[in-house]
Amino acid sequence: MELNTDVLHAEQRRDVAFGSHVSPLYQTSTFVLHDFDEAVHLNQNIDQGFVYSRFGNPTVDEFERKIAYLEHAEAALGLASGLGAISTAVMSVIKGGDHIIFGDVIYGCTFALFTKVLPDFHVDYTIVDTTDPEAIAAAIRPNTKLVYVETPANPTLKISDIQAIADLVHQHEGIRLIVDSTFASPYLQNPLDLGADLVVHSATKYLCGHGTVTAGVIAGSKALIDQARMPYLQCFGAVLDPFAAWQIMQGMKTLGVRMERHCENAMKVANFLEGHPMIDHVYYPGLPSHPSHETAKKQMRGFGGMMSADIKGGIDAVRKVMNATKVFSLATSLGNVDSLIQHSPSMSHFDMTPEERHRVSIYDGQVRLSVGIEDADDLIHDLDQALSKIDVCVN
Ligand SMILES: *Cc1c(COP(=O)(O)O)cnc(C)c1O
Repeated sequence: MELNTDVLHAEQRRDVAFGSHVSPLYQTSTFVLHDFDEAVHLNQNIDQGFVYSRFGNPTVDEFERKIAYLEHAEAALGLASGLGAISTAVMSVIKGGDHIIFGDVIYGCTFALFTKVLPDFHVDYTIVDTTDPEAIAAAIRPNTKLVYVETPANPTLKISDIQAIADLVHQHEGIRLIVDSTFASPYLQNPLDLGADLVVHSATKYLCGHGTVTAGVIAGSKALIDQARMPYLQCFGAVLDPFAAWQIMQGMKTLGVRMERHCENAMKVANFLEGHPMIDHVYYPGLPSHPSHETAKKQMRGFGGMMSADIKGGIDAVRKVMNATKVFSLATSLGNVDSLIQHSPSMSHFDMTPEERHRVSIYDGQVRLSVGIEDADDLIHDLDQALSKIDVCVN
């Protein structure tokens, strides 16, 4: 089947009890076992049945199977948030004394995990520009165990060539490649097909699409997912709540039509902003002016709904614009049906110092837009009237 059919029907479970059209929600912490022998057996073979919802739950399992299907993975694992997925995935492939390499533009709390938490567990790191595979090659050490790439990267939308990085990484035994594909969703790219070992998503974003849950997911080989589940997820406990999994599955039914509209609207908004006199620079991979445009065309099925823009007049202008939008809500997060605007330096990327941010083009006058599925003309009109509030004399 093709993608729009798959997002609806793949791994859809039929309800044998009552024929419920929508998959039932198994909102339960534990499961009643038939007898002592089954209890002993299932506790030793947790993938053969359900015992306790931290080990597995039928609703979460249905969500995991759908994601595995859409990511062309053997298995997937649902978690309580994107960061739950990232920390569990990362911790399941490294140990104290290892070295990791990660991209210089990544989600703020992922940056905090790598630079503030893992060093306490004796995990050393090197930050590189992952759009340059040579820079990754140069950073590899004998104890390197992980290369971590976010593409498209938050918030400047840099695109890293997953295939080129995977080929390079796998010349070295024992190094894993993890790709955070949140901005693309499985609808726009499949990192495992390009050679990544694990793909992670914040399901809070496009997968759910309606801003009702926080959730995350990891997909990859059965061996790596089994290892992430037991003992890591089991011990860290960042399990996905069944109701959240159920809500994401409702949202995923429209993933295809949503992503297509997000892409279409974002292209229009990006073109409008690029031509606006109060905008210094637009970061959208669909624009030929974006340095990653060619890489995006090569590995993605669309350019997505996310962009950033540098507003002339710096932070004062940003304040005026962000206080003036009416259709774009001032909120962090992204990938919802409705449009959001946020200020990356003080919101999503506050964990970086100003020097660290400026080095990777996250400037003080930069806003990030999550372009929703409203009518594009209304979005453009909203930004136009908000930008007209800037009264500073720029030139
Ligand atoms: C939001 C986000 C995360 C973190 O996900 P949560 O669900 O908020 O924990 C990680 N990576 C990217 C690219 C994100 O946008």
